[in-house]
Amino acid sequence: MDYKTKSINGKIIKAFTIIMLLTIVSIKIFVAMTFENRFRKYVDDSNKAELEHLIFDLKSVYKYNSWDIETIKVLGEDAIRKGIALEIYDENKKIVWSIFEDEKALSNETLNEIRKNMQSIDNTWNNQFNEYEITVYDDNGNVAGYSYIGHYESTYYMKNDMEFFRGMNKVIIIIAIISIGSIIIISFIISKSISNPISKVSKMAKDIERGNYKDSIDYKSNIDEVDELINSINKLGYELSDQENLRKRLTTDIAHELRTPLTSIKGHLDLIIAGIWEPSKERLISINEEVSRITNLVEGLRNLAKFDSEKNKLEKEKINIKELITNIAYNYEVKALEKNIKIDYDLEDIYIYIDKKQFSQVIINLLSNAIKYTNSNGNIKIKSYIEDYSVNISIKDNGIGIPKKDINYIFERFYRVDESRSKETGGIGVGLTISKSIVALHGGDIIVNSEIDKGAEFIIKLPIKKVTTN
Ligand code: ADP
Repeated sequence: MDYKTKSINGKIIKAFTIIMLLTIVSIKIFVAMTFENRFRKYVDDSNKAELEHLIFDLKSVYKYNSWDIETIKVLGEDAIRKGIALEIYDENKKIVWSIFEDEKALSNETLNEIRKNMQSIDNTWNNQFNEYEITVYDDNGNVAGYSYIGHYESTYYMKNDMEFFRGMNKVIIIIAIISIGSIIIISFIISKSISNPISKVSKMAKDIERGNYKDSIDYKSNIDEVDELINSINKLGYELSDQENLRKRLTTDIAHELRTPLTSIKGHLDLIIAGIWEPSKERLISINEEVSRITNLVEGLRNLAKFDSEKNKLEKEKINIKELITNIAYNYEVKALEKNIKIDYDLEDIYIYIDKKQFSQVIINLLSNAIKYTNSNGNIKIKSYIEDYSVNISIKDNGIGIPKKDINYIFERFYRVDESRSKETGGIGVGLTISKSIVALHGGDIIVNSEIDKGAEFIIKLPIKKVTTN
């Protein structure tokens, strides 16, 4: 398909030109239908009234058996100024008085001017002349003669009618020019107010396409939809920039995390191959620990990828929180026992609609952190209870705790309190990020209370409306 694109400016100006033409045509039709027609009718009526007056006045032009030439002259001159020609004949059809003889110049000039004026405003105007014969009677009722009255058949305007008509047309033309001017100015302002921000958005989109996410559009239009578009593109830019930073950090972190154990493994193996070190059990155990660190790292990345791809698919079912937690915790007791950590339970029978698989991951993450970050002979307490319109699940340990400066960041991706801690524990800083996101998907939140060297308490809070106790 041959498809031509056009700029917004072009489109808006084209649309407004069409509106403008339609406006002109409608003004023209409106004027013709209302003003011109009414004015024509008004002129026709007043011309008719003049004619009737004249006919009435002509009754008194023959008195005492003679023609009153003075009156005829006054009536005739007055009539020609209103576009009516008058001639008087006696009963033998002999001319008594004629405007064409007595006022030849005035009559020609007047009739020519009417014709010229009318043809200038209507070139279809017909200059046919209508003539009427009116019998004039003497005082005894006998025929004294005839008056002939003539005027143009089509509507005709006299000088002052013409002035009024032209004046009105001028006003209409001025109104049309003002409307057209306003339409042009408004269309220009509207097209600019739409196209300016859109071209900024499109430039920003191109920048984003080229990988430059940093800039944002600092522009406030007075159109809601355009502002929304600007906000969205700014947000898109920020998010892509965030993603880009995250991706860079992730690559660096992974490279770093992999390099450390791999360097250590390679170092061990090089020395063993060179025969400097014996492949003793201790050496192999050390290599195995490094391999375990790599395995942990890969497992963490796998969980993150899995969560990212599944985060929009919650499959909720009615779950007994007490059963879910005890089942998970029993599996982790072995790990706790290795460090001689005691786990206490204080769980209520609470039923809640949650995605069992994803929610289990949250409990596993918090519980394994509690075990990881609690020293030997420590203590962990898991509690579930309803409070403040939410179901709360608390996992509290008396471990190493979290420094104040780090508390606000521990839920961020790849954030670890310090390198040395996680080196020992093998964490990569994604467990809490995933946990918080899963709880957020359920409409809840995780809060944390902690003091360094005293321990940490993570509380999962879920809104109460989905809770039942049976
Ligand atoms: P990691 O895989 O490193 O454990 P997390 O996202 O689970 O990542 O935790 C982020 C950081 O929060 C950890 O590196 C750790 O320093 C701190 N942290 C998490 N849980 C606890 C806890 N129970 N006690 C002390 N510190 C904790």
